[in-house]
Amino acid sequence: MDSAPLTAASLAGVRQWFRSEARPYPWTLTQDPYALWISEIMLQQTVVTAAVAPFSAWMARWPDLASLATASEEDVLRAWEGLGYASRAKNLHQAARLLIARGQTSLPHTEVELRALPGVGEYTAAALLSFAFHQPALTLDANLKRVFQRLDAAPAWTPALEARWRTLWAELVDGPSSRESNQAVMQLGQRVCRASSPSCGVCPLSGGCQARSLELTGVIPEPKVRTVIEKRTTVMVWYRFDGTWWLARPDKGRFSNLWLMAPASPESPAGEKRPLSGRVHTYTKYRDRLTAFCVPWTSGGDPPLPPAWSGRWVTLSEAASLGMVSVYRKILEEASSLSLDLSV
Ligand code: SF4
Repeated sequence: MDSAPLTAASLAGVRQWFRSEARPYPWTLTQDPYALWISEIMLQQTVVTAAVAPFSAWMARWPDLASLATASEEDVLRAWEGLGYASRAKNLHQAARLLIARGQTSLPHTEVELRALPGVGEYTAAALLSFAFHQPALTLDANLKRVFQRLDAAPAWTPALEARWRTLWAELVDGPSSRESNQAVMQLGQRVCRASSPSCGVCPLSGGCQARSLELTGVIPEPKVRTVIEKRTTVMVWYRFDGTWWLARPDKGRFSNLWLMAPASPESPAGEKRPLSGRVHTYTKYRDRLTAFCVPWTSGGDPPLPPAWSGRWVTLSEAASLGMVSVYRKILEEASSLSLDLSV
């Protein structure tokens, strides 16, 4: 390519667009590294609008590393409920405890130290270096890649293309301009250079955009191969006894330390069963059709559980303070709204 696809002048144009058009979110108004870390982890797999209220509630409850480190995991998981991918909350909690145990009351500010924290990968470390510590890192997320790919009319994102853009970015962006430059191009990608139907007519980069001039915006980047969804069926049993309900949780795996209902097993008692309405739980590549039955527990002792699961009897008000997978919370709410007769 003869000329650079992004220049100091065109990047200044994007920053100008950002200053006049930027959507203010709670995390774009703060310089606090801890707050920016919480927001970056929340935003990893959650849409921006869904993260605003949980972020504000989290910051009100745990405004710094020290307060998060002293929180119980139960409380942290409950606060995360609804955001999905609870391993992110566990990693935040674990990282806060690690740092406080080492006598650090604030986040480290080198890439090596940041990436050593649970849940912090290349992108998150770059975002913290840029947004919180004003270092010249490139926050190479899907939005930036799409903008850069279109500027170059490159059909695929390759290691060579990435190296080229990292070099160019390092030439154009210094520490003081890092935060605004990254945030400006990211928002441009979200709102103007969208995956489908980009608004090239209002884009400050349209003058040097190869994909636009070659009319290739519809095929660059190439559409993603659709993930093959695996269907599953899970039958859960919601035992009730003397005004309480049996909650169970696995010690390991995707839902570790989150409360669910006990999975049905050959040992599950037969007898009166009351079906609750089915739900579909979609996560990663799975679509899990959940069926739950409400069953009175009359056998004494505790209901059966798979290996490495634990359980406890709780009232509905106690369950309200426990971290659950949100689809199971909905089943719980349905069960309570049915006003089931809890006397067994
Ligand atoms: S001109 Fe269009 S395709 Fe090119 S960067 Fe702007 S919005 Fe994206």
